[in-house]
Amino acid sequence: MVIDAHSHLLQGRHPVSDLPHSLDDLDDLNISELLAGLDLLGVEAVVTLAQEMARIRDQWLGSNSLAADLQERLEGRFFAIAGFEPVTRWDQFNAPRFEQVRELVRSGRVRGLLITPPYGHFQLNDRWAYPFYQLAVEYDVPVYVHQGAMFGPPENAPQYGGGLWTLDQVVVDFPDLRLNIEHMAWPWTEELLAIMAHGPNVHTDVTMLSMRPHLLAWHLTIAGDYGFLDRIFWGTDYVGRDNEEYLETVRQELDFYRNRLNPILKGCGWPTLSTAQIEGLLGDNIRRFLNL
Ligand SMILES: [Zn+2]
Repeated sequence: MVIDAHSHLLQGRHPVSDLPHSLDDLDDLNISELLAGLDLLGVEAVVTLAQEMARIRDQWLGSNSLAADLQERLEGRFFAIAGFEPVTRWDQFNAPRFEQVRELVRSGRVRGLLITPPYGHFQLNDRWAYPFYQLAVEYDVPVYVHQGAMFGPPENAPQYGGGLWTLDQVVVDFPDLRLNIEHMAWPWTEELLAIMAHGPNVHTDVTMLSMRPHLLAWHLTIAGDYGFLDRIFWGTDYVGRDNEEYLETVRQELDFYRNRLNPILKGCGWPTLSTAQIEGLLGDNIRRFLNL
C-alpha cells in the first residue's frame, strides 16, 4: 500500500493572524470524497506537514493544531508533522513554539517535526534549534528538514556558502536523531548521500523531483550503488485542499514511479529498480520510519 510521506494536504497558506485550527475551520471540504479517492488509488495514508514561516513571511502552511486535529479525527489515514521555527523575528529562542511542540510530541498528537531554515533565514545548526533536536531524540520522533530546493529570487535562499555542512554538524551532534532531508537536498544530493554513509539515521524524500526525470534517475542510481534505496520516501509535497487536483497529482506520480522510471533508467544504461524497491519508495520505507 502507498503512503504519501510528505504533503501539506488540507494545509494551505494562511497569514499568522488567521490560521485554521481544526477540521471545522475548513469550509467546503468533502472528506468522504477524498478518502474514497485515496482508496481507489491504493493510498493507505497521507503524512501532512504544518509549516511555520512566521519569522520572515508572516505565514504558515496550516497550523500545528490543525495537523494534530487531522491526525486525531482521520485516524489511521492522516499522520501529522508539526512545524517549528526555533528563532523568533527578534532573534530570540522561540520558547512558546518549543512548549507547544513538546506537548504535541509528548501526547503523541503528532508523529514528528519539520524545520525549514531557508524560509526563516536561519541555519539548521543554529543554537536555538538544538533543544528541539534533543526533544525529538528523547521522544523518538523524526525531524523533517527543508534544506536546499529553493527556486526563485535570491532572498528565497540565503544559505551563504551553500552545501550541507550545517546538516553534517547536526548529524554528528545528534547521532540518534532520525532525519528526513526533503527533496534529496537538491542541488546537494551527492553531498547528502555522503552524509548518509556516516549517518544511518538520515533519510530523504523524492518529492517534486519527478519533474526532472533524468536527474532523479541518476540520483536514484547513485543511492542504489550506496545501498540507501530503503532510506528514500515518495511524496507529493501537495499544498492545499482541492481533492481532484491532489488525487490527479497522486495518480500521475504513481504512474511515473511504477511505469515510466524504469524505461528512463534502462535508456540511460543504468540498473532498473525492482518491484520491491519501487514499492519501498512508495510506502514500505516511510512505514518503518514513522513506526506506522
Ligand atoms: Zn513540503
